[in-house]
Amino acid sequence: MPRILTTCPNTGALVSTGQRTPELKLAAMTLPHAFRCSACGQPHSWTAAQAIVETAPSRLLPAA
Ligand SMILES: [Zn+2]
Repeated sequence: MPRILTTCPNTGALVSTGQRTPELKLAAMTLPHAFRCSACGQPHSWTAAQAIVETAPSRLLPAA
């Protein structure tokens, strides 16, 4: 199941949001969603505009 990823504002690393695409409609998400960053350990928020969907380990597509 593809994961939703976003970029950590502190480290610039691509991190998982903990969400997976079948659980929600990504393009319809306009409000920020909070998650704890696996790169720096701080809480961040993300929106669909900042997210990408992991379709395969080596292939990434824009979410919106
Ligand atoms: Zn972070």
